[in-house]
Amino acid sequence: MPSTESQPPASERREALKAVLAEARGCTRCPELAATRKTVVFGAGNANAELMFVGEAPGASEDEQGVPFVGRAGKLLSTLLEEVGLQRNDVFIANVLKCRPPGNRDPLPIEIENCQDYLHRQVELIEPSVICTLGNFSTKLLRGDPTGITRLHGQPEVLTLGRRAVRLYPIFHPAAALYTPRMLATLREDFARLPELLAQGAPEQPPPLAEDELEQRAELSGPVGSASGENRNADDGPQARAGDPSTEQVEPDQLGLF
Ligand code: URA
Repeated sequence: MPSTESQPPASERREALKAVLAEARGCTRCPELAATRKTVVFGAGNANAELMFVGEAPGASEDEQGVPFVGRAGKLLSTLLEEVGLQRNDVFIANVLKCRPPGNRDPLPIEIENCQDYLHRQVELIEPSVICTLGNFSTKLLRGDPTGITRLHGQPEVLTLGRRAVRLYPIFHPAAALYTPRMLATLREDFARLPELLAQGAPEQPPPLAEDELEQRAELSGPVGSASGENRNADDGPQARAGDPSTEQVEPDQLGLF
C-alpha cells in the first residue's frame, strides 16, 4: 500500500542523521578501509541544506580531521562557494566513500557499493533541492550511468533518488582545477549558475512510494563504480588503525558540524 505519510520535520531528520553517523563510524564493510582509516569522514554542514555537494573520498587531511574537503581542493571549494554568496555552513558536503582509500587510490567498485547506502540515507534525510556532484565518481554513482563529467558538467537535470526528486548538477571536482587554470575558469562558470538553480527550489516530487517499491527500485539500480580517476586530492599522509569502531561514541564536536 502506498505510504501517505508526510516528511518528518527537520529536527527529526537531523536526529536520524546522527544515528546514521553513529552507524557509519562503526562501519567495517570494507575491511581494508576500516583497517587503515583514522576517522570516518561522514560529511559536514547544514543537516537541512538546500544544496548538497558529493565528492569522491576523503584524502589525508580529511582523514586526519574527520571533515570533508579541508585540504587544498576543499579550500578551493570554500572560495568558490563564497564567490557565489554561500558559506560552508549553508550547505552539506559529503563523499561517495566515507573512508580514505589508502594512498588516495581510486575507490573500488565494491567499496562504492558498500558505502552507497550511507549516501542515499544522507540524501533522504537532508532533503536537498540541488545535489552538486563533484567529478566522475559521484556523478556516475548518482546518475547510475557511466557518462563522464566532461560531457555532463554544467547541465542540471531532475533525478529521482529513492523517494526524492532532486536537481542534479554535475561539475568538475575542485582538485582537477588546482593545476589547470582553464578548468578553474570552467568550474567558476558552472558555480555561477548555482544561485539560479537554488532559486528554482525543489523539483516536483514523485508520489510517495511504499517500502517494497523503494527496495525494488534500489535493487534495480546497481552500483556503477567504474571511473577514470581524474579527481583526487593528491595529499598523502600517515595512516593508522581507527579505534575499535563498534565501541566508539559519537563525539559532540562531530555532531556540532551539522
Ligand atoms: N576530495 C574529495 O573528493 N573529497 C574530500 O573530502 C577531499 C578531497
